[in-house]
Amino acid sequence: MYCRTLNENGTWNARCLHCFMTIASAVETEAALEAFEANHMCPEGIFAELNAENTTQPAHPQFN
Ligand SMILES: [Zn+2]
Repeated sequence: MYCRTLNENGTWNARCLHCFMTIASAVETEAALEAFEANHMCPEGIFAELNAENTTQPAHPQFN
């Protein structure tokens, strides 16, 4: 889960609600925001993510 906030200049910030880390700031598009969220390796959510992989989540795409 991520908390998105819209800045006065129209850019976005995103914070992870599990570890409270700011994962993106002053991002211009929601698409870019989603990319930051997808790439966040959450130290608090790693176990939940491992469980999710055994159910419905597809494998994470690799960016090499
Ligand atoms: Zn996190």
